[in-house]
Amino acid sequence: MVSGASSATYIVAIAGGGVIGCATARALALHGGLRILLLEKESAVARHQSGRNSGVVHSGYNQKPGSLKARFVVEGSRRLREFCLERGIRIHVGGILIVSQTDRDTAILKDLLARGQANGARVEWVAEDRLRDIEPHARGICALRAPDGASFDAPAYVRMLATDAKGVEFSFGESVLDLAEEGASVAVRTSRRSVRCRAFVNAAGLHADRLAARMGVGRDLRVIPFRGEYCEISPTAAALVRSHVYPAPDPRFPFLGVHLSRRVDGTVTAGPGAVLATGRESYDSERWEDRDLLDMAVWPGFWKMMTTREFVVTAIKEGRKALWKSFIWREARELMPELKPSDFGRRWSGIRAQLVSRDGKLVEDLVVRETPRSVHVLNAVSPALTCSLPFADDVCRQVLRRL
Ligand SMILES: Cc1cc2nc3c(=O)[nH]c(=O)nc-3n(C[C@H](O)[C@H](O)[C@H](O)COP(=O)(O)OP(=O)(O)OC[C@H]3O[C@@H](n4cnc5c(N)ncnc54)[C@H](O)[C@@H]3O)c2cc1C
Repeated sequence: MVSGASSATYIVAIAGGGVIGCATARALALHGGLRILLLEKESAVARHQSGRNSGVVHSGYNQKPGSLKARFVVEGSRRLREFCLERGIRIHVGGILIVSQTDRDTAILKDLLARGQANGARVEWVAEDRLRDIEPHARGICALRAPDGASFDAPAYVRMLATDAKGVEFSFGESVLDLAEEGASVAVRTSRRSVRCRAFVNAAGLHADRLAARMGVGRDLRVIPFRGEYCEISPTAAALVRSHVYPAPDPRFPFLGVHLSRRVDGTVTAGPGAVLATGRESYDSERWEDRDLLDMAVWPGFWKMMTTREFVVTAIKEGRKALWKSFIWREARELMPELKPSDFGRRWSGIRAQLVSRDGKLVEDLVVRETPRSVHVLNAVSPALTCSLPFADDVCRQVLRRL
């Protein structure tokens, strides 16, 4: 990794030092012989989604067969676990348990079992009596278990990807402001200078739709930020949780619901919720960003999404969780009845770059859009950390085709 900034021509320029930008930089560096620049507006990598998440290595039971996520998640999970073990990044493979409380949940879990099997993931059905052998304090009438599910240190992983990207010039505190395809190159205007490159990769996460729009790409989609609130469980109550306990997800929404997760530092969190954020980087409800609110307000898909009955019901439910942690407790105690409101302590949050289409649909899959000289990664939502290694190889192949 080389720090610094110079005005020059590069073979490839990448916007964004999250997991997608860093994994792509690493894949291109391993290919060799390319002059690569990675531009990151913050002072270090992994300051947004890649550093504020559940830190779960997913295993492939939840992704629709045939989707891009399904294509990458099982290989991604295996390679990510191997990478962490080889490179000394903290990881704990304790499995994920998805518990059913009702017959409706059981039907959802049966669908997930079929999805997992179609995706080639390791998943097993767990009857009620065995459930307590796996998570002694969890409640459910049956469950699904993904034994490869794990916790890992996501920021350390992203930093290691950046370290591995040998020869790549990382420039921190430098924002990409404008882009234009000019013949055989892309002109990139940043907060410091102008550079040229033969291929450009947009991995700007929560701002990726804005950069894509500069090149006339993805104008049918907009990032609507959804904040996920986490609550840390007291050390005594944390002892109740061995690994990860998830509820059956609501199939109408792409979010997995409040789950209990043991992180690699030994803490246990309950969360995340999914409430509309007042800005793309507004990590608490007191902060808002005028430009982001305006972008939402003028997006027809935002109002279409807001006026569906399911969305209104969910927005109220999620809004309560964002305001009062007692509502996070109410969901968490469904998974583990011994948890008490007083067990729920410090809060923190992450924000998802969720794409919403013009007709108000929440886009579930990863989206990659291209122009002759650029590749735009949009909607890199969960589990894109898990998918990152094979996904970045794919982005790398698309870049190489342009050179
Ligand atoms: C609450 C939450 C929980 C999640 N849990 C999991 C999980 O357990 N497992 C899993 O696999 N996935 C999870 N995910 C998903 C995962 O975190 C994301 O998919 C992934 O981190 C996206 O990475 P990214 O590189 O696209 O975006 P980011 O990490 O957001 O990186 C984008 C980078 O681009 C920079 N940038 C933006 N605009 C510009 C610009 N104009 N110029 C220069 N730089 C710019 C930003 O500063 C940022 O560093 C979760 C996500 C969230 C939000």
